[in-house]
Amino acid sequence: MQVSWKQRLIRYAHAKDQSKALVRTRWDFPKTVLGHRIILRESMNSNLDWLQKLKGDVLRDEMLYSHTSLRIGGPADVFIYPKDLNDLQIIFKNAGTHPIFLLGEGTNLLVGDAGIRGIVVSLKNSFRSVHETELPSVSEENQRVLIKADAGVKTSYLAKRTARLGLTGLEELAGIPGSIGGSLHMNAGAEGKEIGTLVKQVTLLTPDGDIKTISKEDIKFGYRSAIYPFPVGAIVEVQLELDKENPVIIQNKIAGYLDKRKNTQPLNLPNSGSVFKNPVDAKAGKLIEDAGLKGYSIGDAGISLKHANFIVNKGNATARDVTKLIKLVQKEVKEHSGYELEKEIIFAGI
Ligand SMILES: Cc1cc2nc3c(=O)[nH]c(=O)nc-3n(C[C@H](O)[C@H](O)[C@H](O)COP(=O)(O)OP(=O)(O)OC[C@H]3O[C@@H](n4cnc5c(N)ncnc54)[C@H](O)[C@@H]3O)c2cc1C
Repeated sequence: MQVSWKQRLIRYAHAKDQSKALVRTRWDFPKTVLGHRIILRESMNSNLDWLQKLKGDVLRDEMLYSHTSLRIGGPADVFIYPKDLNDLQIIFKNAGTHPIFLLGEGTNLLVGDAGIRGIVVSLKNSFRSVHETELPSVSEENQRVLIKADAGVKTSYLAKRTARLGLTGLEELAGIPGSIGGSLHMNAGAEGKEIGTLVKQVTLLTPDGDIKTISKEDIKFGYRSAIYPFPVGAIVEVQLELDKENPVIIQNKIAGYLDKRKNTQPLNLPNSGSVFKNPVDAKAGKLIEDAGLKGYSIGDAGISLKHANFIVNKGNATARDVTKLIKLVQKEVKEHSGYELEKEIIFAGI
């Protein structure tokens, strides 16, 4: 568990914003390395012996840029891949005052240059199973199947798997690069379809580590939001109801949607999808373009030339560059058209 000073130096050498990436957890570390200031971190000094009870992997100072699609983000104090639900419960029941951040595929995130203080949990190694069960058919034409998917399953994988099985419902979401847990948290959507419309039940952990299963009627799904009747610690499993359909028709639809994305989104550069929500009566991308900001950059963070609602990382962009650019876009769009753009991406450690 203890990360050697040498390892820390290696991570430091690979960090993007070197003035902030390396943070001290012990008083006896030097205050500077190669002329760069090391920030003192005090948040994880209390007893973490309970981490030894976990079966899953526990990492210290894991650099989060390698876990985000924008390729930005400093270290997490503690990064855990829980092995199973019991591990996840141990984390929530023992974390005490240490904040816990649930990381999905990191495709809708801007993580700060100094990283995230506390515990970051990733379900992507172990929460990956999918089960299909035929539901009693109402009629010959209306045959439904219940899909149980763990929160760490990728949405795109589930869409392709269900398409192969001749199950329709997820094809519009096949190009969304996140996990099912993240998609549910965001009520991700595309082409007029939102994941919330397919949900039957959700199993989650409360912040106290208790397991609860709730049905769709208990969740208030909105545009890129889902409101639960009580605080949520982690989404663990989702049950979706899908209809049967000819697999060729479904797969053709998926191919069409993926093609459209390739032509309209900057998929060749690190990004985090749409940065801003679309106002009710306008498209954020068009508003940004009309404000003359397409291609505008701060540091290596730029407004994509292909889609103005995407910020791309052209190499060594920092979270600071991106937040500055977001503020500038909001100011310029407000001045130009009067619209107040609300951000869609989630800030973590900022
Ligand atoms: C190229 C590209 C295209 C995109 N296109 C779309 C699109 O068409 N439509 C759309 O809606 N989005 C789109 N996105 C954004 C993103 O893919 C979705 O919002 C996705 O659902 C986020 O899932 P994630 O697993 O990456 O979540 P993360 O980005 O890791 O996290 C997002 C939020 O969900 C929370 N979270 C994640 N997992 C859990 C869990 N198990 N329990 C509780 N909370 C959790 C996190 O704490 C965070 O608050 C796109 C992104 C990219 C990069």
